[in-house]
Amino acid sequence: MSLLKRYGRRLQGVLDLGSRADMLRVAEVCTQLNGGRESKTYQIDSSKRERGLPMNDNTRWLRTHCARMDHGGCALLVGVKNNKIIGIKGDPNGFLNKGYTCIKGIASPERLTHPNRLKHPLKRVGKRGEGKWERISWHEALAEIAENFIRTREKYGARGVAFGAGTPKGLEHFVLIRLANIFGSPNVVAPQDVCHAPREISGVHTCGFYPVADMHDPSKLIVLWASNITSTNEEGEICSMLLEQIRNGADLIVIDPRKIDLVKKSKTWLQLRPGTDHALALGFLHVIIEESLYDKSFVQDWTSGFDDLAQHVKTYTPERVSDITWIPSDRIRETARLYAQSKPAVIQWGNPIEHNIHAFDIARALICLMAICGNLDVPGGNVHAKDPEIMSLGRFVRADLIPKKRTEMIGSHHGVIPRLMTVPGAFFRKAVLEETPYPVKALYSMCANPLLSYADSRQTYDAFMSLDFIAVADLFMTPTAAIADIVLPVASQFEIDDIGHYGLGHGFILARPKVVDPAEECWPDMKILNELGKLISPQEYWYDDYHRFLEDVLEPAGLTYSEFVEKGHLRGPKRFRLYEKKGFRTPTGKVELRLSQAEKFNVPPLPQFQGLPEEDDPDYPLVLTGSKSQYYLHSSYRWIRRLREKRPNPKVEIHPETALQYGIKEGDEVIIETKFGSISQIAHVTDIVHKRVISASHGWWFPEAREEELFEWEKSNYNMLTSTTKLGKEFGTPNLKGLGCRIRRK
Ligand code: SF4
Repeated sequence: MSLLKRYGRRLQGVLDLGSRADMLRVAEVCTQLNGGRESKTYQIDSSKRERGLPMNDNTRWLRTHCARMDHGGCALLVGVKNNKIIGIKGDPNGFLNKGYTCIKGIASPERLTHPNRLKHPLKRVGKRGEGKWERISWHEALAEIAENFIRTREKYGARGVAFGAGTPKGLEHFVLIRLANIFGSPNVVAPQDVCHAPREISGVHTCGFYPVADMHDPSKLIVLWASNITSTNEEGEICSMLLEQIRNGADLIVIDPRKIDLVKKSKTWLQLRPGTDHALALGFLHVIIEESLYDKSFVQDWTSGFDDLAQHVKTYTPERVSDITWIPSDRIRETARLYAQSKPAVIQWGNPIEHNIHAFDIARALICLMAICGNLDVPGGNVHAKDPEIMSLGRFVRADLIPKKRTEMIGSHHGVIPRLMTVPGAFFRKAVLEETPYPVKALYSMCANPLLSYADSRQTYDAFMSLDFIAVADLFMTPTAAIADIVLPVASQFEIDDIGHYGLGHGFILARPKVVDPAEECWPDMKILNELGKLISPQEYWYDDYHRFLEDVLEPAGLTYSEFVEKGHLRGPKRFRLYEKKGFRTPTGKVELRLSQAEKFNVPPLPQFQGLPEEDDPDYPLVLTGSKSQYYLHSSYRWIRRLREKRPNPKVEIHPETALQYGIKEGDEVIIETKFGSISQIAHVTDIVHKRVISASHGWWFPEAREEELFEWEKSNYNMLTSTTKLGKEFGTPNLKGLGCRIRRK
């Protein structure tokens, strides 16, 4: 109230303050912009000048968090006038970003008013993929989906309907799981097999938690392992925190096949062969144990299986590992020593370590490294992030209603490791195409574009064309939406009240209040799922208004959603070394360097190098890897002008000597071939890649192309080059990187 008195009323007449909450919010913003000192209105006006915005024009500046351009995490100040976003900037007081935003965040409002945005529910009237649609009402669309799902359930059981999602963006991901559970289907299809599950679940089995990089406390050394954080901001840990640590004196090691931007700030860069991370981690373990550099008291008190591990890694000499990884053996030794002798050291591990069939071994080897060097659950190390007092995931998704889920899911039939609670894309398509282990005939898909994002896009196409019924909810017509039966227009995060980072294991949640109303007939995903739930499952599990989901999550914290919005974020308690009181949550109560349940789970007890993702083949002499662009999220946002201007074409990075050898020049169209398919991309000749490696762009389709051709989904799509013939046993992960390939000029 004092803020309101001090600042809020002084702002009237300059800003359109619609409510007391708005006044309070703007007053807070003024205070924050001024570093907590008394604020003057010109500060907001000066921010408008920065963006070229007019002054005294009824613009309101509202606080929210970015989302859907990646996991989201940057606190934003959004300028709104007449229900339109007219300016955006990072909130200097942002919990994670401290004023930082990337170009995606700045460009994100362009989605809302884009002429191609979906604005009404559509029903297919031609053949699948023919691009012929009829506009229908929400009532008709939901009735059509409900009728198809209920019919499928009657014929094949509830498990014959799958519910699919891509990258979790907000609470809708968990409302989808709730819908599947209440409907009775154990099959939520998600790309966890190539994103997060290997790290999270290997962590749970090895040390009882998912070891998140602690960027909030100072580290002496940061290891960026396959994490191009200035491009992807994965883990929701915004790179500004990492950059601040470097400014404060932390050393940086970069382990990446590409010379990423942060190499400039690093002490050491190890350019490893794609897909050999497990060999490198085992080589580090060898050096650290052989030279007795490990944390003896932690190993003694809190690990089990150390002697077995020590014996096991004897064969991973730096010389042997050098042959596998292409990294000189002395660099392997030096880097291992640096990690072991810098305390605390943190490993920021990115999801490329989960992009091949050996993901389990890689994640396990890295957790063993964290453990024996005493960097687990210490400030500035890899920690067990505790959630604030909010509703548990299991309660929110009503896991109690589907007790047999673990044994009934498609993945269980394939023997995946316990705790993997979503269905890998490869196993989902097997169920659709081969009815193994049982038929799946209908799909609800949201926040996803599987035709581009699953390995082996041709197989995805075949599977989707075989489904009896597909409903897709999205912002824009995508290649996947174009082969659906019903397409639903969704609201963007600026148009939804939402909670960010719930269920991600980072120990905090973020307030994402809406700043404008949804366009035309666009609905929040949560509202769609809530209304669909009422039609296909018992009404008592659903609400009159989807906002109740937000209130449910916050209830244990004793907060309403609007009180949470005023706070901006909620963070769990900062507690470290909890194991000293309770032990580790594993069967032995210790970090299991040797897994005690390995036999039961039918997995290797110790991390090992079982070979390259794909063995060398002289017909495919180059090694393919891929990278994500800082301008896009997977296959999204090629239609945003400001982003497309920055990266108009899919580019393939080729080393100058390799380009010369193949007669390829900068800007040439290049055919890239693997055993599984071929695509074309535009050559970028650069020494950021190794001579034997090419790095192609991920997620490309062309929104400007014809819908009847599914926006040229095959032409430059990385996943035309991948396959699901080989899958990791634990998570069903395919090889996305480290594949043999060849190139030629088109
Ligand atoms: S880094 Fe991520 S959360 Fe931050 S502005 Fe960019 S897209 Fe948004």
